[in-house]
Amino acid sequence: METLLIKGCSLPELEAWVESIGERRFRARQIFKHVYGRRIAKWDECTDLGRMFRVQLDFGTRLNALSFQEKQESSDGTVKYRFGLQDGHSIETVLIPDPPRYTLCVSSQVGCALGCAFCLTATMGLKRNLNTAEIVDQVCQVQRDTEQRNHISNIVFMGMGEPLANYDAVLKAIGILTDPNGLAFSHRRITLSTAGLVPQMIKLGDQSPVNLAVSLHASSDAVRDSIMPVNRTYPLPVLMEACRRYPLAPRKRITFEYILIDRVNDSTEDARALVKLLDGIRAKVNLIPLNPRPQCALRRPSQERMLAFQEVLQKAHLTAMIRQSRGADISAACGQLAVPHDDSPSADAPAKGKTSRKTACMENCLSVPVDGQKRFGQKDD
Ligand code: SF4
Repeated sequence: METLLIKGCSLPELEAWVESIGERRFRARQIFKHVYGRRIAKWDECTDLGRMFRVQLDFGTRLNALSFQEKQESSDGTVKYRFGLQDGHSIETVLIPDPPRYTLCVSSQVGCALGCAFCLTATMGLKRNLNTAEIVDQVCQVQRDTEQRNHISNIVFMGMGEPLANYDAVLKAIGILTDPNGLAFSHRRITLSTAGLVPQMIKLGDQSPVNLAVSLHASSDAVRDSIMPVNRTYPLPVLMEACRRYPLAPRKRITFEYILIDRVNDSTEDARALVKLLDGIRAKVNLIPLNPRPQCALRRPSQERMLAFQEVLQKAHLTAMIRQSRGADISAACGQLAVPHDDSPSADAPAKGKTSRKTACMENCLSVPVDGQKRFGQKDD
């Protein structure tokens, strides 16, 4: 019999499984309560389940999809966890405390195939998608570890990977995270961030009321093409039209993430183009100073340039906050998640003579003009 990953099962799936081994349907609900409410470590702790049933659970299921590997704490309180997967890969998950809000940043893939120039995860290439249990277990493991139980207040899919490239597993994980019998998170407390996979984004709007964040990072196709290769497939007019049509509940807005990169996308001209781009969209903008990564020529702008950029947006009545990066000293800040390269095969391992994802990413990075060079006909400001 195949081992069942408990945290990858929806309640109806678990009900079907308990019935298939001759148990009553309501046992599934009991299991959910033990796993997500009491956060048990082993089945022996469930004394209200019969001994034989506990033996069946021991042999037929796997309770934890992740194994704890490492935990690092930043001077600002941010905590980065590294978890091991069954096949030897590792992922990272970040807890960002901002009382009373405790936000957990979860990963959806091992590495990422999208090759954004400013992102350390991109240098790993894509190893594989996470399964539903591996996504849900990030929340369970951190909940178990934090002293203040139930303290995770928000979940953001902004860790390693592009969540919409792993659509089915991510959607199913959201279903388990929001199940009132499971972890019971409100959809309002979950945000999914995408680099702009437009077809999946449209599907998400139809299928889930979670908050949407779009990693924009440029206000022209020329710049976005150079730092986010996904833009060559879904250019800004296509992406922004999908945002304009995105079904939003009253008072909800799309969050646009914009990493400010010195002399690449941070001029007041870029800011004015961004205002135009967001016209007609219920939007708020998070401005994120770049966290430079090793071997990358991209730099963080000066405070003056960032404030000038923000001012243009605010004068146009856009909500625009400059976000302070958290956890930079432990490489846990935005764009800094990555685990050391291993020898295991990558899902996008190049054929002989082809460019590897890592190399492509480096090339993207190095193709971006920096240090005050004019680019794409832009005027200095
Ligand atoms: S920023 Fe996001 S989408 Fe882009 S390479 Fe990094 S993980 Fe992937």
